[in-house]
Amino acid sequence: LSGNITVEMIDGLSKTSFPLCMQQLHQAFRQNHHLRHWGRMQYGLFLKGIGLSLDEALRFWRTEFLKKMDPDKFDKSYSYTIRHNYGKEGKRTDYTPYSCIKVITTNTPAVGDHHGCPFRHTDPELLKQRLQSQMMSKDVVDEIISLCKTSHYQLACGRYFDWSHKSDTKFNPNHPNQYFEESQHFLS
Ligand code: SF4
Repeated sequence: LSGNITVEMIDGLSKTSFPLCMQQLHQAFRQNHHLRHWGRMQYGLFLKGIGLSLDEALRFWRTEFLKKMDPDKFDKSYSYTIRHNYGKEGKRTDYTPYSCIKVITTNTPAVGDHHGCPFRHTDPELLKQRLQSQMMSKDVVDEIISLCKTSHYQLACGRYFDWSHKSDTKFNPNHPNQYFEESQHFLS
């Protein structure tokens, strides 16, 4: 898929192949037509990593932001960061997507933020409700919550992967983009 992802494919892929951290960012972005800085960084770089080109990325962010922002403001305040992530502005560094460890240990989300790792940063009760709302059985929910409570966040994410793919891979992700690739590989 690399390099061939279009804006129109993102909703579908978010349901089948995004890890929970990116599902959360995607849903929040669609609902609020906005994401704060670290959310844009975490999600924007992930999308770049799955193969969204700069032109498609600009189209994706612009279309959603313009639902509640005027185009001038977007072009002045936001398109720079997106171009920057693709190494087209500033130091022209080609930024790489964040690993799980980076997401788990840096930029702790505050109220109103949607970035971070849900297995690390979401209150266990809330996480439980969210998993139950995805029709996950009690046994699996309990297993995931107990892994989170013992700080095994990536194992909890791997368990979520196995549950959502109806697989038994014992996958232990170390990168959200690796999660995506593993999922695409599994579904192909
Ligand atoms: Fe995302 Fe990694 Fe957390 Fe899974 S373990 S939700 S891929 S940050």
